[in-house]
Amino acid sequence: MIHFLNNLFAGCNSDYKSSRYVIFGVPYDATTTFRPGTREGPRAIREMSYNFETYMPSIGLNLGDLSITDLGDIDTGVLPDDMVRDVSEVTGDIIRDGKIPVMLGGEHSITAGAVRAVMPDCYLVCDAHLDLRDEFRGTKNNHGCTTHRVIDEGIKDIIIVGARSGTQEQFELARSLMLFTADEIQKRGMKQVLEDILDAIGKKRVYLSIDADVIDCCLTPGVGTPEPFGLAPQDIRDLIAAVAPRAVAFDYVEVSPFDNGQTAMVAAQMVREFIAAHAKSSIKN
Ligand code: MN
Ligand code: MN
Repeated sequence: MIHFLNNLFAGCNSDYKSSRYVIFGVPYDATTTFRPGTREGPRAIREMSYNFETYMPSIGLNLGDLSITDLGDIDTGVLPDDMVRDVSEVTGDIIRDGKIPVMLGGEHSITAGAVRAVMPDCYLVCDAHLDLRDEFRGTKNNHGCTTHRVIDEGIKDIIIVGARSGTQEQFELARSLMLFTADEIQKRGMKQVLEDILDAIGKKRVYLSIDADVIDCCLTPGVGTPEPFGLAPQDIRDLIAAVAPRAVAFDYVEVSPFDNGQTAMVAAQMVREFIAAHAKSSIKN
C-alpha cells in the first residue's frame, strides 16, 4: 500500500470518531501588536513534527499507538469576536464528544474561545505577558486581553507562570490571582514551583495554555512579542509533564516562524510531550 504524505501533524492517522486527542490549528493573527506572522504557526509546527521519531523514550510510549487526529485549520474570519465564536464552537464539539482538544496558534486571543467552551476549574497559562488588559486597540479580544477574558468567564483559579511583562495595573490584578514570575522561577527552580502549582491544582480540571514567548527569546526567537530573561524549554517541558494528567485541554500559541525553525520545533515537541504525558497517566489510572 502506497502511503500519501500530507501536511497534518505527523502520526495523526486516526479518524475523528476513534480519536482521544484532536489537534486543530487556528492560523489567526489579526490583533497582533508588535510583529505579525503567528498565522504561519500551525503550518510550521506541523512541518517540524515530521522531524521526530514517534517513540517517546522519556515517557516510554509510542505516539503511533495512540489515537490522535488532526482536523487541519479553522477557516475563520478576520474579526476577533467571530474568531472567538468559531474556536468556541469547534472546541465545544470536541469536549462534548469526550475528547481532548489540542489547539495550535495563531495568536493568544484564540484561547479565549477555547476556554469558554471548556469551562475548566483552573486556567494555567505560561506566558511572558500577563495578557490582563480589559480592552486593547478597540477590541476585548486582542491577544493582550486573553487572561482578562478568562476572568470574565467566571473561572476562579487562574495560575500565571513565567510572566515578566505587563503594566503596573496588570501586575496588581495578577497578584490577586496566582502568579509565578520568571524571576521567581529563576530563583526557586521550576521543580520547587511545580510543587506549589500541583498543590493548588489538586484534582481540578485544568486548561493548560502555553504562549511560546514564555521561553527566553534568545532561545526561541520566533514569536510575535519577544521577551528576554525567560524560562528554558526544559522548564516548560517539566511543567507539561506534571500538569498533563490533570489537563482537559491544551494549546500552544504565538509561534511566529520567521526564525530558523527552532521555535516551531520546540512547539511540536511540546505538543507531543503533552499528548504522551496525558496518555501515560490515563493508562496508569
Ligand atoms: Mn499571551
Ligand atoms: Mn506572550
